[in-house]
Amino acid sequence: MYFRKKSLEDIPTEDTAIWSCTQEGCIGWMRDNFAFEHVPTCWQCNSPMIRSMKILPMLVNKNTDIKAIKKSIMIG
Ligand SMILES: [Zn+2]
Repeated sequence: MYFRKKSLEDIPTEDTAIWSCTQEGCIGWMRDNFAFEHVPTCWQCNSPMIRSMKILPMLVNKNTDIKAIKKSIMIG
């Protein structure tokens, strides 16, 4: 007899760099996955955002994977 694999409860989490809104009471935040050249503004209220950390489910960064694969091909 097989048991269904636990899914939602077992997602690994990590401290993730994010930008969070400086406006009190605003829930706006975004992952810091993009290389911002300047401080982003909140998509909710247009306030400036600050760097922060948040525990989030781990994301597989596919771009990095592709780069790593390409690199390994080039190194051969
Ligand atoms: Zn905001």
